[in-house]
Amino acid sequence: MSFTIQNVLIPDDQGYKTVDVQIQADRITAIAPNLPVIGTVIDGSHQLLLPGFVNAHTHSSEMWQRGIIPPSPLELWIAELYEFTPLDPEQAYLSAVGTAVETLMTGGTSVVDHLVLIPGQELETIAAAERGYRDVGIRAFIAPLIQDEELSAGIPTGGDEVKHSSYQATTEAMLDLLQTAVEKFHRPDEGVEIMVAPTGIQLCSDALFAGCIELSDRYNLNRHAHLLETKAQKLLAQEKYGCSAVQHLQEIGFLSPKTSLAHCVWLDDRDIEIMAETRSTVVHNPLSNLRLGSGIAPILKYRQAGVNVSFGCDGSASNDSQDLLEAIKMGSILHNVTDFDYLHWITPRQAVEMASRGGAIGLNRADQFGSLEVGKKADLVLYNLKSLSLLPRTDPIGLLILGRPVSVISHAWVNGKQVISDHEICNVSVNDLAGKLFEQSEWNPKRKSAAVAQTEARYRSVMGLPEIAIEQSST
Ligand SMILES: [Zn+2]
Repeated sequence: MSFTIQNVLIPDDQGYKTVDVQIQADRITAIAPNLPVIGTVIDGSHQLLLPGFVNAHTHSSEMWQRGIIPPSPLELWIAELYEFTPLDPEQAYLSAVGTAVETLMTGGTSVVDHLVLIPGQELETIAAAERGYRDVGIRAFIAPLIQDEELSAGIPTGGDEVKHSSYQATTEAMLDLLQTAVEKFHRPDEGVEIMVAPTGIQLCSDALFAGCIELSDRYNLNRHAHLLETKAQKLLAQEKYGCSAVQHLQEIGFLSPKTSLAHCVWLDDRDIEIMAETRSTVVHNPLSNLRLGSGIAPILKYRQAGVNVSFGCDGSASNDSQDLLEAIKMGSILHNVTDFDYLHWITPRQAVEMASRGGAIGLNRADQFGSLEVGKKADLVLYNLKSLSLLPRTDPIGLLILGRPVSVISHAWVNGKQVISDHEICNVSVNDLAGKLFEQSEWNPKRKSAAVAQTEARYRSVMGLPEIAIEQSST
């Protein structure tokens, strides 16, 4: 399949220029004014062409719980999340489709799904998500979320003796599962990759990290994990290792140019140097960090230290959407309040670069996608500059990032295959998806969590918060 996008606006060093773009099979083959037509013609006039963005951290199945979890910190929020997590692979399929659709409709052409696995149906969960991503046509990096410690181990002890029950699966079983997933589903040429993705230091043993590193080296897999999302995790790392989580991950060899780490809110200056030295990527999830009160990640410091930064929506139970443009906007302007020197602030063009090329660097694929260059994969998005929210005509990228763009994407392609045409998702019916999400859920504003009530007293005590009566905990 070949096509030519004619008379389209693209950014350049001077501002913008109008060009034609030729695509043959899965690649961009020419970018210049007045090119001969190859294949189908796409009228690019009054449209802006950008490389697709990367939604570099999410958890698709959280879609089933969006809007329902009350304002609470991660350690309590996650207890509730896991108590009501979906248990049917068909739900995992629908939420993967929903995540892919919302990511595509807001400029993303790749998604990193740190996929929560249904206990006892782990491979079925991965198969369901993989089918969902293939059906929609988005480039998918499936990162099965594994751990080998119980949730309660994720809260610092504060020096008390705390016994944790053992996790439902062994370290070896988790690693075997991952290897099977790689053999069954890792198909980089087809746009589906498996990543090794221990959830983070808070719930994983060193043996699990070591096994993930070994698989990553053996199969050339990218590595992903949460890192120092909360203050509690910073305390926990000191209890567990006697040093920072970043120093520990460096010592055990997890950090590398293939490693992307979600959140990175509580790093100190030495940690930031290690992130730069190891060429690890920070995935910035600003909306989740605000929603869970985790803090403001020191993104301007990362950028000044030369650390690559990309953007993620994070799962829909801590955001509660997959609007990538919203995450990029918030992730850019949030930091203006952290540094009085406005010369350090993130410009809209820098934000676009972080979301596209930064996302590709974080997946060790910047040689393949993430920029508008001849030879790169055709992961492309056309923005309709006649959409009301992108008018009047000022600076298209400025308004795309700083405004509130609504339904602005006219066409998009992944690997040269069209996934959005005339503002509509091509390969699945969004109406059918909405119908199934409606039918398979119910209004439930009064849900109570027993798991939160069990955890809350210890969390409050360790974090130095006043004691409360437990009955208040789940209101
Ligand atoms: Zn996450």
